[in-house]
Amino acid sequence: MTAIRPLPDSVITRIAAGEVVERPANVVKELLENALDAGASQIEIRIARGGMQRIDVSDNGSGIAKEELPLAVRRHATSKLDARETSADGVFAVASMGFRGEALAAIGSVAKMQLISRPRPRAGESPESAGAHMIAVRGGKTAPVRAAAGPPGTQVTVEDLFFATPARLKFLKSERAESLAIADVVRRAALAHPALGLVLLEDGKQRLNLPPHAELGARVGAVLGRKFLENSAALDVSDEEESQKMRLTGYAGLPTFHHANSYRQYFFVNARPVRDRLFYGALRAAYHDYLVAGRHPAVLLSLALPPHAVDVNVHPTKAEVRFRAAARVRSLVMGGLRQALHGAGHRATDRNAQTALAAMRPGGMGRSGGFAGAPPAQVLTAQESQSVLGASDRSAGESADFEQQARAHLAAPAPEAEARAGDLPLGLARAQLHSTYIVAQTADGLVIVDQHAAHERLVYEKMKQALAREGVARQMLLVPEVVELASGEAALLMERKDEFAALGLVLEPFAGDAVLVRETPAMLGEMDVAACVRDLAAELARTGQGHALKESLEAWCGTLACHSSIRAGKKLSGEQMDALLRQMERTPHAGQCNHGRPTYVELKLADIERLFGRR
Ligand code: ADP
Ligand code: MG
Repeated sequence: MTAIRPLPDSVITRIAAGEVVERPANVVKELLENALDAGASQIEIRIARGGMQRIDVSDNGSGIAKEELPLAVRRHATSKLDARETSADGVFAVASMGFRGEALAAIGSVAKMQLISRPRPRAGESPESAGAHMIAVRGGKTAPVRAAAGPPGTQVTVEDLFFATPARLKFLKSERAESLAIADVVRRAALAHPALGLVLLEDGKQRLNLPPHAELGARVGAVLGRKFLENSAALDVSDEEESQKMRLTGYAGLPTFHHANSYRQYFFVNARPVRDRLFYGALRAAYHDYLVAGRHPAVLLSLALPPHAVDVNVHPTKAEVRFRAAARVRSLVMGGLRQALHGAGHRATDRNAQTALAAMRPGGMGRSGGFAGAPPAQVLTAQESQSVLGASDRSAGESADFEQQARAHLAAPAPEAEARAGDLPLGLARAQLHSTYIVAQTADGLVIVDQHAAHERLVYEKMKQALAREGVARQMLLVPEVVELASGEAALLMERKDEFAALGLVLEPFAGDAVLVRETPAMLGEMDVAACVRDLAAELARTGQGHALKESLEAWCGTLACHSSIRAGKKLSGEQMDALLRQMERTPHAGQCNHGRPTYVELKLADIERLFGRR
């Protein structure tokens, strides 16, 4: 055994560096944050070989004075706290991106880092008054400050990341993966700061060039694409409680615009990108009713709240935050999302229409779809075409019959009704096809509705509303049932017995680890009481929440809705079809059925014209 000795400072810094700069993207994130804290309005990032060879970040921010350069690269040195803030509670009230004061020191300890900075002239000073200076750190060794040349602002260059700690290099992914991670960091910063001008160059090629945008919408369109905007509902809600006002803005993707992973989910707290669990949880809860299982919605949520209401420095890379009033934040996020989705009403993503159009376009679906696999059309000889014409002549009688039949199926709208169609998002019903699909004409296109899926959603929404309005009817069990539970579970259930009673399940304490069930939700009919109560108890023990009962009630609504809905294959009159369309327009979330499938597809005239080469 050797004696206990304190670690040398250089080793401490390197250990800390492992937390702050795990990979090139972390370096970019720290340098970006510093530039933002310095008030930069324009930032340029250049990376070479996934940032492993070189990272350059230049900004037009405040710059660093010559005397302060050595401090900037020292561990636990920061300009972002004043004496008052460094005391007790002050550290929580910081509005800047971070004050841990370890990023530059950490980067300098594991790479070759160079800072050139020139302070922005203060009011009354001539632009030349302060020149540029440079400081370099190599594997933790700092060279003296030297005069240099450069514009106002700061340029940081990081070369040969982890040359001083080669073991780290082994953990890096491919250059490609590191480049993608960097692009993601830059994209998130761009979304958090719409007014910031940003340029990203990768191995000399321009990857991103964003001018300052006046509003979030324009920036979101530029970074995430027009598709994202078209398939989401804007939201803007606030919680006005005194001293802790919170405002949530952003975009909630339509449930039908879902994805296989959560890459298209962006959360910001006071313009800081976060990956906080609170957001993921609230998101799941808000969408759980509308989304196909295992799919992820696209969202961008930006929360603004007073700096003292949130602690952003609990995590080395500052990705997780701690809210003072987590419950209020959660309900604001869930409320905002629900409201946005509700407001989107019957809207479904236009992606379904795009898929439909792609399928119709010759060869549109690629290898296997469309007409791509069809043999090339043959040119008919004059004689052959004559016989084809003859054939069609012969069938003239049949086709007249068809016309008549088709007309009988058309719900020909009165002229005044047709004029009204312009105001109806889902248009006027014109025909029913295969006793399953309603075709409606809208002001600028046509809509195809799956009558079963649509009606199922309507019934489901109605039942849920009734559930919320009137509560759950209960039925008394002829013989109260005793359910034996695992140790401690009975007590857990009894703590929440009022909530369960509101959902129709009336429990009483019983000897030992058992409960007595007196009443059950009438809706569930003959249920396996013991199994239900055991599941509920197990869930309570595991998560502290008893969603199971509410969910099984909702699932039951869904099943009932499915069985009591208009079947596919049922003939509908014109009035019935129109009534269904109007009801869909009035019903929230009518754009998808309970299983997350769309209930209708809309094709715009413009798209149809393109299909026929008219455009
Ligand atoms: P922190 O940002 O937590 O203070 P850093 O190690 O990232 O710690 O930076 C140390 C200090 O260097 C900052 O507090 C700031 O004063 C200064 N600094 C770093 N980067 C810049 C920059 N781009 N522009 C102006 N000052 C900077
Ligand atoms: Mg910093």
